[in-house]
Amino acid sequence: MIDFSPPPNVEQTVRDIHRFIENDIAPIEHSLADHLTNEHLYLREDGRLAPEVLAAQQTIRKRSAERGLYALHMPQEVGGGGFSLTDMFFVHEAVYQHGIGVAQWMLSWTEGPNHMLMFLTEEQQQKYLLPLVRGETTGAYAITEYRGGSDVLGMETRAEKHGDTWVVNGTKAYITNAQYADLIFVCALHDPSKGGAGATAFIVERDNPGLTIGRTYRTIMDDGMTGELQFENCQLSADHRWGEEGQGFYLSMGMINWIRVRRGGMCTGLGQYLLDRCSDYIKNRRAFGGPLSRFQALQWMVVDSYLDVQAMRSLSLQSLWQADQGNLWALKVDPHLIKTVCALKVFCDEALYRVADRAVQLHGAHGLMKESGIEKIFRIARNLRIPGGTDEIQRVNIAKALGL
Ligand SMILES: Cc1cc2nc3c(=O)[nH]c(=O)nc-3n(C[C@H](O)[C@H](O)[C@H](O)COP(=O)(O)OP(=O)(O)OC[C@H]3O[C@@H](n4cnc5c(N)ncnc54)[C@H](O)[C@@H]3O)c2cc1C
Repeated sequence: MIDFSPPPNVEQTVRDIHRFIENDIAPIEHSLADHLTNEHLYLREDGRLAPEVLAAQQTIRKRSAERGLYALHMPQEVGGGGFSLTDMFFVHEAVYQHGIGVAQWMLSWTEGPNHMLMFLTEEQQQKYLLPLVRGETTGAYAITEYRGGSDVLGMETRAEKHGDTWVVNGTKAYITNAQYADLIFVCALHDPSKGGAGATAFIVERDNPGLTIGRTYRTIMDDGMTGELQFENCQLSADHRWGEEGQGFYLSMGMINWIRVRRGGMCTGLGQYLLDRCSDYIKNRRAFGGPLSRFQALQWMVVDSYLDVQAMRSLSLQSLWQADQGNLWALKVDPHLIKTVCALKVFCDEALYRVADRAVQLHGAHGLMKESGIEKIFRIARNLRIPGGTDEIQRVNIAKALGL
């Protein structure tokens, strides 16, 4: 019998998180209320975040780090909280139960530290990782390209070694935090004939003259966070290599696995938030002489969302517990563990999308209005099914592990 209830230290952290959101984050969210419902205020003309939004993001990240909440998933030896993946489920769930405003910025996402950075050397950890853990700097992980999307090894970016210096050339597409990152972790092929073992990863500092920050994309989420990066004769000394030569693909996949496992608490928390909103709404909205909640058609939509939330929660906890028993942060991960992680991602992404779709429907026109906060989660839920590996790629990985 496995007991998934959080241990006392995690329960205490969850209480801290709710207090932090109510006392520190709610006033910031209130001050940005107009920005959050109007993309013309939220974004600059070029698609980047408005300065006041970016400043709020930085403030929340730094305050969260000061409270020891930003990098709970990282080992204690680098200043993290040493939480397991199962512990992190409760952390993510607690934050996303507040919906999507600005509270999610208190958590490390793609821009923050992840376990694969433990492959940095001691000196590199001091220089690059510790400031990331403290929320003082941010990063971006540049893997995807226009040609090499799901087919990561179809990438065209090349790294060539000239003596002790590496030279990287290529363009990376759809990169989260590209415009604001202090550090870019880029994966490039140096020997395509070797497959995964022919890729190496590098740390590129923002002021490297070989790096150009390209366009900012206008995404379905109006997030202002997704951009293009160009590397042109980008010169990198040996101390800018992340891991050993030939480890870049595996380090990058490890980082993507962190994005995948994060979905458990995130989607469950958002699903619970929407479920509560839907129940309240149909109980209070009166039509045809009484509350909408007396119509079985609507009750069943709420019940179906309840089933999805229960299923996300159970599958996530079970999968994360399994992941905690293995080693998800190895360079080569057991395919059965990958199957578990991919099952979590695809199930949670698709279940949240169903819950969000029903939530829009149950709220009628109000659910489609920006001020409702519902349609935004619907757009985010739709987005989730592509990055971190699409729904189909999760199924490809599961099929492989099933021996198909
Ligand atoms: C908002 C956002 C943020 C992102 N952030 C990052 C980031 O920080 N860093 C980064 O490196 N990348 C990032 N990405 C890129 C993301 O990881 C890719 O978009 C994703 O992996 C899919 O690649 P693609 O867009 O090229 O689609 P494609 O690979 O062209 O796929 C098109 C369609 O074909 C399907 N397909 C492809 N191959 C197969 C197959 N073998 N079997 C079945 N179906 C298949 C796909 O599932 C999809 O439905 C981000 C993307 C978005 C939208």
